Order: sequence, then C-alpha cells, then structure tokens
Amino acid sequence: MSNTNRIFLSPPYTGEAERAAVAAAFDSGYVAPCGPQTDEFERRLAELSGRRYAVAVSSGTAAIDLLMDEFGIDSSWTVIAPTLTFIATVGPAWHRGAKLAFVDSDATGGIDVSLLGEALGKTPGKKLVISVDLYGNCADYDAITALCRRHGAVYISDSAEAVGAKYGGRPAGSAGAAAVYSFNGNKIITTSGGGAILTDSRAIAERARKRSQQSREKRIWYEHREVGYNYRLSNILAAIGLAQLDRLPEILKIRAKTAEWYAKRLPVPLPAGGNRWLSVAFLDSRRARDTLLKRFAEANIEARPFWKPLHLQPVFAGAASFGTEVAESMFERGICLPSGTGMTQDDFGRIERCLGEREG
Ligand SMILES: *Cc1c(COP(=O)(O)O)cnc(C)c1O
Repeated sequence: MSNTNRIFLSPPYTGEAERAAVAAAFDSGYVAPCGPQTDEFERRLAELSGRRYAVAVSSGTAAIDLLMDEFGIDSSWTVIAPTLTFIATVGPAWHRGAKLAFVDSDATGGIDVSLLGEALGKTPGKKLVISVDLYGNCADYDAITALCRRHGAVYISDSAEAVGAKYGGRPAGSAGAAAVYSFNGNKIITTSGGGAILTDSRAIAERARKRSQQSREKRIWYEHREVGYNYRLSNILAAIGLAQLDRLPEILKIRAKTAEWYAKRLPVPLPAGGNRWLSVAFLDSRRARDTLLKRFAEANIEARPFWKPLHLQPVFAGAASFGTEVAESMFERGICLPSGTGMTQDDFGRIERCLGEREG
C-alpha cells in the first residue's frame, strides 16, 4: 500500500524549528558526538525528569545497557521485569547472561506489585527490578521502591515511553537508582534515534558518560583502565531534541485531546498523569479487536496489538514467570490506536469511519 495517505501509529512531529536547529548545530562545526547542544539537551532533560543528572546516548536500549554495565549484571543476577513490554527492557540483561523473571500486569498495564513481591521472594541471587511506564502511564513508583528496598534489590525505571508523563506530582523517570528515556522516531518526542539516563547519582552519571565514550581516561593519549562503548548521542541529534523539548507542552496537549476523542468512542482508559503517547483501547474480545485491526488495515491506517508478553516469546521460553493472565488478556483484547500529533480532521474522519463499521 502506498505511504501517501497512510495514517501512521505515531510518526515524528517535526518541522521548521527542528530543521533550523540542525542547520545551526551543523554550521557551528560540532558535527560530533559531543558539543554545546548535547550539554544543553542534558541540562533540559535533567530538569524535565526532576533529576540531578542526565546522560544523552544513542538509544534507549544503549541507556539500559549502560545501566546493566553499571550494576555488573551477569549470570549471578536475576532481572525482574513486567512481561508486557518491548524486548529492549530486558535485552541488555539477557545479553549479559542474567536470569530473567517476568511479572504480570496490573489493571493499568504496569507491573503488578503484589506479584513483584512474590517474584522478589522466590527468585535466586542478586536482583534488579526494571519497571516500565507502559504506553506513557507511570508504574507505581512508590510501591516498587519500597519493595525493592525491603528485598535489597536495585531498582531501575524504563520510562522510554513516558517522557512528559507524571506520577502524582513527580515527573516520569524520577524513580529508582536511574531511569531511561527513549527518543526513537515513534516516541512522543524524537531525535530520530536517541535516549538518556536520568539519575541523582553523580557517580552513576559520570561512569555512564565515560563508558559511553570508550572509557577514555583524561590524558592526551588514549589511555584505558576499562573497556567502554560508543553510545554517545550525536550533537546534531541533540539539536533536534532541543527543538522537540520546546514543542513538548503542545504535543502533550494534542495527544491528550486525541485520547479524549477516542475515549468517547471506545473503551480507552485515561489514567491520571499519562502522557497519552499512544491511545490504547481494550475491546470485549479478541475477535472484536481483530475486526477493528482489519478495518484499519483496509483503510491504510496503522494500528497494532499491544506488546506481545515476553513470557510468550520463544526466545525467553526458559524464564520464570509470576502471573500471566492480565497481560495475556491485554495482548488479546488491546489495540494501540493511531496517535500521531499531526493528525488532521480528515485523518480523524477516516478513523471514525472505521470505528463506525466496527462489529461487537
Ligand atoms: C522504545 C522502548 C525502548 C527502547 O528505546 P530505543 O530508543 O528504541 O532503543 C525500551 N523500552 C521500552 C518500553 C520502549 O518502548
């Protein structure tokens, strides 16, 4: 099908401001992994997340990988994550040989806190918990923090989808030893590709920054006491990120309106504080969901099922799991709806026609 009149799930919302920011960064000569735009982007991300430090890196996955490196994750660790998430939440832990344990969702899609308690009690070795702010709704930070403290587990927040969201009065990404944002092309703001680590720990921030730049020591020659990575965010991309941050309040308003528009027509929950990155609906049955997916597909509109739970992924067949029912039901009945910031009246009209034709 042609892309000309395709409505995408969550395409980038960029324009003249981003183009001008890239041109300015380019003309300044900082066509490099570091520069004034990266520094400024980090300052603004720290402010947005309410944390002392931000380290801008090449992707959300790279940010998670640096944190796994920071805590020395290996086969002596169990990494506990919600089952209903994108594979990148646990990919870096898997690569390091950690045992994985998956936990079911609560009614809003976050990690179920009572099952998390059970997982912390029953899994072996050192433990790291990584919660997910699913579709831009913050996990129950306070309850998870308390549980991790009680069990001596490290806590990290995968807030990749939640830039601009709130947990009570606090920003998304304000929980745990560190949190992660993503600026991939489909996220609520983008640098085309990018991510960040947010933390209050100067030590974590400094080590992550150093390791993201090949762990060079401060010498005139290349001196290495450890082996790092090349994960730094390009200064050119940070320039796009700065222009996107300026737009974030407007983007949040538009996405909220879109979610409310859907909520009048479909069972779309509107949890407090969510950034409405994606509007998601829970239909009555798998059949009703599949029918709607088909209507969208026929109208050249992109919509998708939820993340397929990780405990159902063939690659993680051996992992422990604590509860599966809620996540599986969400996977069967859930639909991610077109949520792009730039959707026009015409686009909404086309979407509405698909909803009108819906059965059951
Ligand atoms: C997008 C996403 C990531 C990974 O971010 P990238 O920037 O694409 O590497 C990690 N976790 C979740 C929950 C995500 O949605």
